[in-house]
Amino acid sequence: ALLINDLCINCDVCAPACPNEAIRMGETIYEILASRCTECVGHFDEPQCVEVCPVECIDPDPDHPETREALLEKSLRLAGER
Ligand code: SF4
Ligand code: SF4
Repeated sequence: ALLINDLCINCDVCAPACPNEAIRMGETIYEILASRCTECVGHFDEPQCVEVCPVECIDPDPDHPETREALLEKSLRLAGER
């Protein structure tokens, strides 16, 4: 999963770009729900939030390192919930 750091300016550009509805406004800045972030695996070649963020404040989440395989599995599970 990816992580939004405190440089976030709450511009709300990333949330609608996320294919997994993994991004929402948190207490002070936007947050990524690790359980829903597939790093865009299964949808796009590049993480869409990273592509659109104007201040480049989205990094890999050190607490949630995942293999591409695990991310694809998560993507399939999320697709099954729809
Ligand atoms: Fe959503 Fe993709 Fe960003 Fe994860 S990397 S939060 S799935 S847009
Ligand atoms: Fe924050 Fe970047 Fe998302 Fe804007 S696009 S809300 S600055 S993480």
